[in-house]
Amino acid sequence: MSRKSTKFIFITGGVVSSIGKGLSSACLGALLKARGLSVTAIKLDPYINVDPGTMSPFQHGEVFVTDDGAETDLDLGHYERFLEVPLSKKNNFTAGQVYETVISNERQGKYLGHTVQVIPHITDEIKKRIFEAAKGFDICLVEIGGTVGDIESLPFIEAIRQMRSELGWENVTNIHVTLVPYIKAAQEFKTKPTQHSVKELTGFGIQPDFVLCRSEQKLDPAIKAKISLFCNVKADHVITAHDVNNIYELPLVFHEQEFDQRILERLNIWTGEPNLSHWKNILKTYTNPKNGRVRIAMIGKYVELVESYKSLSESLTHAAIANNCKIEITYVDSVEIENLGAENTITKNVDAILIPGGFGNRGTEGKIATVQYARENKIPFFGICLGLQMAVIEYARNILKMPEATSREFDETTKFPVIDWMNDQKNVANKGATMRLGSYPCKLLPDSLAAQIYKQASIDERHRHRFEVNNSYREALSNADLIFSGLSPDEQLVEIVEIKDHPWFIGVQFHPEFKSSPNNPHPLFKSFVGAAIKYRDLHTETRKPIGKKTTASTEQIQIN
Ligand code: GLN
Repeated sequence: MSRKSTKFIFITGGVVSSIGKGLSSACLGALLKARGLSVTAIKLDPYINVDPGTMSPFQHGEVFVTDDGAETDLDLGHYERFLEVPLSKKNNFTAGQVYETVISNERQGKYLGHTVQVIPHITDEIKKRIFEAAKGFDICLVEIGGTVGDIESLPFIEAIRQMRSELGWENVTNIHVTLVPYIKAAQEFKTKPTQHSVKELTGFGIQPDFVLCRSEQKLDPAIKAKISLFCNVKADHVITAHDVNNIYELPLVFHEQEFDQRILERLNIWTGEPNLSHWKNILKTYTNPKNGRVRIAMIGKYVELVESYKSLSESLTHAAIANNCKIEITYVDSVEIENLGAENTITKNVDAILIPGGFGNRGTEGKIATVQYARENKIPFFGICLGLQMAVIEYARNILKMPEATSREFDETTKFPVIDWMNDQKNVANKGATMRLGSYPCKLLPDSLAAQIYKQASIDERHRHRFEVNNSYREALSNADLIFSGLSPDEQLVEIVEIKDHPWFIGVQFHPEFKSSPNNPHPLFKSFVGAAIKYRDLHTETRKPIGKKTTASTEQIQIN
């Protein structure tokens, strides 16, 4: 397909950040895909970091990892889950990457003596990267991070302005996502921030064709008409993205307002009606699950940061839909477990326990205590990445009777590093993009729980770690009945561990949450939630929650 045949949908944001541009882009993409078009998406991040891999979870939510090992923005997770296409490092780039390339080109003399400037050199590099990622697709959604008017996003806005005139009216459309707040005292939705934001965008030479309004409730036609008039956008091009109970409802909310139809008309594309039966089925199960509710404790040290566990909570939701149940995730602070003991915290009243990935020592003793509690009480347990490492340390301490067993990550001079540096990580000095990243194959032990769940002999999963099970302890652990049910093809790396005589206990060195989608729930999460249902049904006594429950958005994590 030539450059020209891809049509571009640019998404900018205004008024506030974190307004849900990524999710909205993904949902629109899902509708276009349901009409038979091939769709991809790109996220442009205007910050100077080369990628988000080095950012703290307090600064940036989850770091999403692609098959080819890029550490990317969490919006790529939304895109993959809704578009069902594997994305790559081409689908997310930052100002840092663009400047790095341009400066390196300049050092190599590639600009033939010209003064290197934002326009055209930086903007050309941005356009080149957009075209590369869009190649071969009918539609490419391009989302620009941040809000319009941010100083650092100006080159990105300018690049998409140029593309609009270069590619022509029928090949490019612009959506501006804004917030329409409801002011309680006046009992009114206010459109002024939207008007100002659109004015700001037009000041950079871009008149949006669509305004997508985030609001608490559906906007009535009078408000839409007002936005239409003041923002110079057709009334049926003002779309509401109002709050929903479940993000998987959003494609249907958009379709009801004919958003997809209007986009196609604007881009002069003809397709049949979209097939939305799978989205409707998901919604039906989600709204009215037959198998009741299960409670899952997620033990972490960023419990207040729901965004840091985005793909995980989504994967659990997919698994809940597949099991026709409602899921309630309770985020438990592992430091709290250190202070109170696992048996005295909320972990006591749950149907399954999950320890997600993480870095650093803080809170790890609480996690290890949780593994012991789950193992001894036969509560379904799922350890992911650091969670596997916690499980192995716990096993070494309590079954192999090595009380000082730990990870080299927590104690550089330990004499009992059951978890140690991976060989090729030992001499790595730079922090950025140097972990073991991306998709690697793993072979499964026949007849193991993992093999039964995957129903395959070999799998591919995505990784992001520096440490691994120390091979020097493998024999002792294996003699003590720890099962290494997944190994790298050369058998040098442990990828999955299990234990005997437990209903469901699995640790994985990879991140299965990056490969789950509502239409294709990940087998491990599906089986884990199934085990939680069984556990719940066997333990019918009323359990009252103890400990702190976070105020994590119910929209993201609960099935009502
Ligand atoms: N900190 C551990 C490591 O680097 C685990 C990483 C993770 O959980 N993603 O190996």
